[in-house]
Amino acid sequence: MSETTILDEHEETLSELKALFTEAGFGAPEVFGCAPGRVNVIGEHIDYNGGLVLPAAIDRWVRVAMSRRSDGKVRLISAQSTDAMVEFSVSVDLAPEGKSWGNYVKGVVAGLLKEGIEVPGFDAVVNSTVPVGGGLSSSAALEAVFGKMILTLIGVEMEDIALAKLCQKAEHDFAGVPCGLMDQAAVILCEEGKLLMLDCVDDSFQHASFDDPDWGLLIINSCVSHELSDGGYAARRDACHEAARILGVDTLREVDPAKLEEVLQTPGLTEEMRRYVRHVVTEIARTLETVKVLSERDYKRAGELLNASHASLRDDYRVSCVELDFIAALAQKQEGVAGCRMTGGGFGGSAIALVRRDCVDTLTALIEERYRAEFGIEPKIFETRPMGGARAWMA
Ligand code: ADP
Ligand code: MG
Repeated sequence: MSETTILDEHEETLSELKALFTEAGFGAPEVFGCAPGRVNVIGEHIDYNGGLVLPAAIDRWVRVAMSRRSDGKVRLISAQSTDAMVEFSVSVDLAPEGKSWGNYVKGVVAGLLKEGIEVPGFDAVVNSTVPVGGGLSSSAALEAVFGKMILTLIGVEMEDIALAKLCQKAEHDFAGVPCGLMDQAAVILCEEGKLLMLDCVDDSFQHASFDDPDWGLLIINSCVSHELSDGGYAARRDACHEAARILGVDTLREVDPAKLEEVLQTPGLTEEMRRYVRHVVTEIARTLETVKVLSERDYKRAGELLNASHASLRDDYRVSCVELDFIAALAQKQEGVAGCRMTGGGFGGSAIALVRRDCVDTLTALIEERYRAEFGIEPKIFETRPMGGARAWMA
């Protein structure tokens, strides 16, 4: 990864964005904005169990240039989409249409209007380095950057957490994805050199330091996605909720990890529920401990926790796959890797490793070679450190 700061990098990319804006016939941009993708460091499959998640914003960005229109029309172009220009008019009756990426922007406009904010028409061009549909939350980044930019264009302030919830609602209502708050919170609230500890019980959050210049996060995209025929996600969520009911708690967050073995003997729990409960309860404990040991720069212990998280997701929660298991096992053995785990919902997608930055090049080459030899697939690997969240500024 280059050593350029975010702002330098923006300067390099701004001229490209301006050129795209002019080529589109939009004239000169009035506002620029960017929002990062995100990765979850630890705390997997516990958001719907009252747990904690620990995402970081990554060094991959959705960048946008925008200017105001006086006729209430919105015209959108994306360098990453083959769609022709997306067009709609700002109105209280906005509704999603088909699978267009413009739905994410519409959803944000609709949310702002609902807050009583007078959104003008605008032209905008998108250029992004966040892989689309790669589990790094390009959709939340898109929502966040438009939210920030529209507010900046009209000089209206909104609290970041309120904007995150507005973007989450856009994703629910305009993209049909019933997600938790993690993605939108991460891409808006993250700070440079920090992880975001988001408590899914009440959406409260804290920032946890991870700013050692010698250590970074390696994201290894397996480039596979195994569709689940049995509705794996919903089945697990329902089983966790049923287990909580049997245990007499609102969420599995309330189970004391010190009493786990005893709790697992509760009559009525199936063998499957016992495995799920064990994952959830131990993962919540691991997430809390990871925050603590990272702040102490105890990478050995942080790595052990990541490895244990992977094993738990593989053996107890059973959401890994051969490709992710291969990557995790291989990475965990290498010099300079404190730990490695799958990240995201599972059954494909990416793994994340906590790495010493001087080992990144060797490690990347090795994983690429071995993964290609094993599966005939080219993985996509990049290093990042925690970045700041979405922002917008006048040109
Ligand atoms: P993820 O958020 O993991 O990347 P999603 O399926 O939630 O995957 O969101 C991907 C969708 O977001 C795309 O199908 C597209 O509609 C929209 N999107 C993301 N980035 C862009 C972009 N640069 N240009 C146009 N649409 C984008
Ligand atoms: Mg998404």
